[in-house]
Amino acid sequence: MNTAAQAPSERSRVRRTEDRGHYDRATIHAIVDAAYLCHVAFVDERGPLCLPTAVWRVGDHVLIHGSNGSKMMKSLAQGTPACLAITHLDGLVMARSAFSHSMNFRSVVVHGAFEPVPDGEKTEVMHRLMDHLAPGRRDEARAPDRNELAATTVLRMPLFEAAAKIRAWGPKDKEEDMNWPVWAGVLPLHQGRLAPVAEPGCPANTPAYVRQWASA
Ligand SMILES: Cc1cc2nc3c(=O)[nH]c(=O)nc-3n(C[C@H](O)[C@H](O)[C@H](O)COP(=O)(O)OP(=O)(O)OC[C@H]3O[C@@H](n4cnc5c(N)ncnc54)[C@H](O)[C@@H]3O)c2cc1C
Repeated sequence: MNTAAQAPSERSRVRRTEDRGHYDRATIHAIVDAAYLCHVAFVDERGPLCLPTAVWRVGDHVLIHGSNGSKMMKSLAQGTPACLAITHLDGLVMARSAFSHSMNFRSVVVHGAFEPVPDGEKTEVMHRLMDHLAPGRRDEARAPDRNELAATTVLRMPLFEAAAKIRAWGPKDKEEDMNWPVWAGVLPLHQGRLAPVAEPGCPANTPAYVRQWASA
């Protein structure tokens, strides 16, 4: 569903090309779950910042983590207003006119504020990060010890004030440009997987998520 009436708040309502806006949980979750990376925008004493960082989802929250010493984590842990964006670039849209060129994409923007994940929930949400990177690896890697967990700030922001925007079609040229003699269409793009590069001394039993990495 993508009716503007479903936008959870006025500031999260997609106005420009509003037909590309989506507010349903399934669409937003799918875009978040396909991402390893987000950008977080906020303002601190240094001025406006927009920093890339790892992202994952647990239920109806997006999560980020970092060293307790990170200025971003310290600022966001205090509830500083923030905006998180995720973008998947799916194609370059070649129109007949230069003006009508575009891009195909799936993106999510979340407004709100982060809060620290309580100590009692930290281990489980960090497990969920490992699940996101490689299902099964949480049971294989050495678990974080008390000091490592204590040195890590984990923050979550509710996906309540969230909007998705999707463009997934060919060029939209003006009627008078339709006969212009130039190739038009979409040059698709995707994030590719290459063959794994093993460290020396790995055990012989290569996990399924490594064996299947490049073919997934
Ligand atoms: C790969 C890519 C390339 C783009 N290239 C251009 C470009 O060259 N020029 C351009 O003007 N725009 C581009 N956009 C669209 C851009 O992200 C904005 O949607 C657009 O500029 C409208 O801005 P606005 O301030 O009028 O937004 P409004 O529609 O007023 O935004 C209102 C609210 O809608 C939500 N929203 C807006 N944009 C997005 C989004 N992309 N994803 C999720 N939620 C959103 C936010 O909650 C925002 O606060 C691109 C988007 C992507 C993903």
